[in-house]
Order: sequence, then structure tokens, then C-alpha cells
Amino acid sequence: MPVIAVDGPAGSGKSSVCRGVAERLGLRYLDTGAMYRAMTWAMIESGVDVDDADAVASAASDVTIVSGTDPRQPTIHVGDIDVSGPIRGDAVTEAVSAVSAVPSVRQRLVALQRDEVAAAREAGAGIIVEGRDITTVVLPDADLKVFVTADAAVRARRRAIQDVTLGKEDVDVDRTESALRARDTKDSSRAASPLAQAQDAVLLDTTDLSLDQVVDQLVGMVEELPRT
Ligand code: C5P
Repeated sequence: MPVIAVDGPAGSGKSSVCRGVAERLGLRYLDTGAMYRAMTWAMIESGVDVDDADAVASAASDVTIVSGTDPRQPTIHVGDIDVSGPIRGDAVTEAVSAVSAVPSVRQRLVALQRDEVAAAREAGAGIIVEGRDITTVVLPDADLKVFVTADAAVRARRRAIQDVTLGKEDVDVDRTESALRARDTKDSSRAASPLAQAQDAVLLDTTDLSLDQVVDQLVGMVEELPRT
């Protein structure tokens, strides 16, 4: 069963696409962004200054993050607290790039991510893992590596629609676009595992495609893989 690695900037549609592909093909699904968000939620919750890398590094070792990998209902817990709602709030979104730039946070979460892949392999299941450094650092030997992107304006519009669906108030597309661009700049320019397209990753530009079309394309790529 295949191991598929997917990276891309904020709002590129990776989560919806990866979940759709996982459901269609019966794969497990791991949202690594949710793990960095959960770590950030834990920092905020315990009053750690997220811009103090040393404080984040020392607090991070006490945080237990547990991901559920069913694509129909992915879950994320800090200890036994379900944080799937709070991690999508503005406070976490604004702080997550700072927390995820801390090398020891990345080491911890990358180890957990590789554990999930090993568990899937052991169970004879395939898995699709999405994030920013999956194709470059976490799973450079994945069976398929894809970089999903879209124009910033389109990504902002999609994210704004998602925010409205989540019940957020005062959603503004222009503000959403500048926040996405700011987060992309931070994620792409950090020293530790920056967001970048792996040389051997397939580029999937979703600007002019519907969700179903992107899912179809990715399913097609997986079906063309040699059977392992
Ligand atoms: O994918 P999502 O937008 O939820 O990711 C939230 C943040 O987590 C990103 O902006 C990035 O700072 C961080 N992240 C990361 N590495 C990953 C996944 C996410 O640094 N593999």
C-alpha cells in the first residue's frame, strides 16, 4: 500500500484533497499542520511566549499530541483534550509559524509523523501525509510526492469560505489573503525545514480546478504507481 507525501502553502486545498483521496482509496490520512497547531494551542494555553524559542522548546517536551488518521473523521488531541475546534481559531493561526520554526518542536513532531507511517505500514495500510516538509524532510522516499499550490487570491477566497463555514465572524477576503501570504513567507523563509517544492515532487496547480478534479488527478497518479 502506498505512502503519499503532499506539501503546499496555506489554503492550497491540500487537506480537502488529501482527505478525498484517502477516502476514495481507503488510505489513512495524517494532517501534520494540525499537529503543529495543537502544539501551538498547548503553548498558548500554558501561557508560554511563542516568540521565545527557548521557552517553547522547553515546554514542548511536556506536550503529548495524538492524531487520529481516519480521513472521514480525523481527530487531534493534546493529552486527552480534543483540540480540533480551538486549533482553527485566529490565536493559533497567528502563532503557529513561530512555534513550528523551533527545531526541537519539529524533531518531536517529525518523529511522531514517522511513527504513524510505520504503524500504517505494519498494519498493511497506505497513508497520505500532508504538510510543509513532508516531501523534503519527513518522507523523502515516499512512493509519490506532490506539491499542491494555487494563486494566492484563489487560496484566500477558499480559506475565507472555509472560515465562514466554521462559523467565524468578520471574515474578509483581503485580510485573509495578507494573513496567508505572511504565513507563507514565514514558513518558506525559516531556517528549519522551510516550505519548498522537492525537485522530484509533482506540481499540482489547483487554481482553475474544482476539488473533485484535483482528487481525480491525484487518485489517477496513485493508481499509476507500480504495485508494492
Ligand atoms: O496546514 P496548516 O495551515 O494547518 O499548517 C499550520 C502551520 O503549521 C503552517 O503555517 C506551518 O507553520 C506549520 N507546519 C509546518 N510543517 C508541516 C505542517 C505545518 O511547519 N509539516
